[in-house]
Amino acid sequence: MSVYNFCAGPAMLPAPVMAKAQSELINFDGLGVSVMELSHRSKSFLAVAETAESNLRDLMSIGDDYAVLFTHGGARAHFSAIPQNLLAAADCADYLVSGQWSEGAAKEAKKYCQVNAIDVQGNLEKLKALSQGQGRYLHYCPNETIDGIAIFDEPNTTQPLVADYSSCILGRNIDINRYGLIYAGAQKNIGPSGLAVVIVRRDLLCGAQPQTPSILDYQVLDAKESMYNTPPTFAWYLAGEVFKWLKAQGGVAAMEAMNREKAALLYDFIDSSDFYRNGVDPSHRSEMNVPFQLANAELDAQFLLEAEQGGLMALKGHRSVGGMRASIYNAMPIEGVKALVEFMKRFENRNT
Ligand SMILES: *Cc1c(COP(=O)(O)O)cnc(C)c1O
Repeated sequence: MSVYNFCAGPAMLPAPVMAKAQSELINFDGLGVSVMELSHRSKSFLAVAETAESNLRDLMSIGDDYAVLFTHGGARAHFSAIPQNLLAAADCADYLVSGQWSEGAAKEAKKYCQVNAIDVQGNLEKLKALSQGQGRYLHYCPNETIDGIAIFDEPNTTQPLVADYSSCILGRNIDINRYGLIYAGAQKNIGPSGLAVVIVRRDLLCGAQPQTPSILDYQVLDAKESMYNTPPTFAWYLAGEVFKWLKAQGGVAAMEAMNREKAALLYDFIDSSDFYRNGVDPSHRSEMNVPFQLANAELDAQFLLEAEQGGLMALKGHRSVGGMRASIYNAMPIEGVKALVEFMKRFENRNT
């Protein structure tokens, strides 16, 4: 039986990447030791680090005017690091609040700067009327992992855009030049948890607030090529393997087409059924995280049990939302989504 893992994060990684990592786990590069046992300053690891960065730059067409940082602390570390790096404490930033993650980012930023929160929850139409803000940057979350809400079009403002791409980086093509900074925790679409990637336009880095921890000071990290302290080397290596895999698949454009097809398959089925529903405005439905509810919530536990018995793992919705959620990031093959839809049909037929 095939097992498909729909976990929102840490999420499944591409099967060929896992197999390759396994095959070289205890003998990397013919050295007789694991990549996780190498000095981060060794020639072999430096090659891993450089290749990962240059492949990411290729995949996203990132120019030299942007720094690419591989950091500790996941995405949340940057909820705190971003205001400290981009602003003085007296400065103001605009935070678009479209769901739980952007709300969390705004809340954390308040410790380090003035925050003007623009709440569009429950009324995504407001996004269209968004006007130029006063803040030094506008922060938003293009894919709300918990709520299943996507903002596909960049907000219409000339302020530097700062975006939490944790759950949709590399899932569709974006023009990096429209952004001041994007960041992503790795465990959704890149690699193991704990690592985060930050892509920041260098001219925005004009000195972090004095209390900023050095390990989160972007100028320090940039100058030290993300090796101010020991980086999460194994996670960096695995991220690099995911980037190689992505290139071999045809890059981000190929992923985007596949992700669109996967999401359409699932949403079309949900919409065709009275047994399941997804309440997100169709123009803002995430292609990465698909929350859905059963009309009869008393069947939730049975649904999850039978799904798991059929090899469909981790479909339980976030504890704050309930119901189900299928996360279908780059690594999820279309066969997994087809298997899920077939299971949902059978479950509906048995229970109506
Ligand atoms: C998962 C997630 C986070 C948190 O990531 P951590 O690595 O756990 O800090 C932040 N933002 C979004 C959009 C996420 O999906």
